[in-house]
Amino acid sequence: MWITLETGADANAVQRELAGIGLWTVPMIQDDGQVTGFQVEPHSQSVDPARVRIISGVDEVLVDKRVTPKLDSKAWQPVTGGYVPIGSSQNPVLMAGPCSVESPAQIRQAAQMVAGAGGTFLRGGAFKPRTSPYSFSGHGLVALQWLREAADAYDLQIVSEAVSEAHAEAVAACADMIQVGSRNMQNFALLHAVGRMGKPVLLKRGMAARLNEWFAAAEHLLCAGASDVVFCERGIVGFDATTRNLLDLATVAQIKHAFGLPVIVDPSHAVGRRDLIPHMARAALAAGADGLLIEAHPQSSQACSDAPQALNREELQALGISIGLRSQRLEAIG
Ligand code: PEP
Ligand code: MN
Repeated sequence: MWITLETGADANAVQRELAGIGLWTVPMIQDDGQVTGFQVEPHSQSVDPARVRIISGVDEVLVDKRVTPKLDSKAWQPVTGGYVPIGSSQNPVLMAGPCSVESPAQIRQAAQMVAGAGGTFLRGGAFKPRTSPYSFSGHGLVALQWLREAADAYDLQIVSEAVSEAHAEAVAACADMIQVGSRNMQNFALLHAVGRMGKPVLLKRGMAARLNEWFAAAEHLLCAGASDVVFCERGIVGFDATTRNLLDLATVAQIKHAFGLPVIVDPSHAVGRRDLIPHMARAALAAGADGLLIEAHPQSSQACSDAPQALNREELQALGISIGLRSQRLEAIG
């Protein structure tokens, strides 16, 4: 249950009254500190919404709608930040590039590969969240500059990850879309810092996140000022480690067809093996995904991170052709 407040309502008084009838709540806080409503925690008492509606200061009570208030207003609206609207009935959007930005030459070759395959977004991490502290964690700020130069050379937009509040501004200055990674989906301080940039955000699903938690994370971004949120399914933890993660396409279909929200799929981190990626990419589009996020590297076997799942030039090109993108992009860029 979601409860929104009338303007000027005494949020503390409403929260106390809700607690009095057994409803434990989490406030929805705007960037300026104002509480605009509450999310009722699932372990609360089951209370008739009509009882909540009569509390002084309560504006609306949303029941059994797993889409949160600000997110709800985005349903069925394409994200138009780029030259390809994401979430419209148009062609799928291809975002591709290496896991990490490794050098100016590597990212430039990657950008050429992406443009040649029909992609419109170059991906690449300057800051890498790594499970092990001993793994390559990105070249940092300078890599953002290499990324921008490479993208500009091939008329591509950029999606790149922010992993700390301290770097939100630098990533926002470089990227057209800011990525929040799986490990940070519920890092609320980061969500607020990224949201404050006012840009579209690619919000990856936490590896063990439920849909309502994912939606709530998007609501945090929108409350802080993000212009749009594009969901990215990248696989959740499964019980069988044969593939890296378990790609949950049922949830993709639900986000797209039941909620009307923009969603893309990252089969690379989901399966972790380059041979399976094109198949799962096509399955994702069939399920309703608005686009794909694909890891690709000019020397795929030598990638500093996620080498087993990086497509090479030919594989990326074949994928672009198989989803009908390559020829259009080539026509568009002449
Ligand atoms: C990535 O996109 O390189 C990445 C780290 O992804 P995820 O957050 O899905 O693991
Ligand atoms: Mn990666």
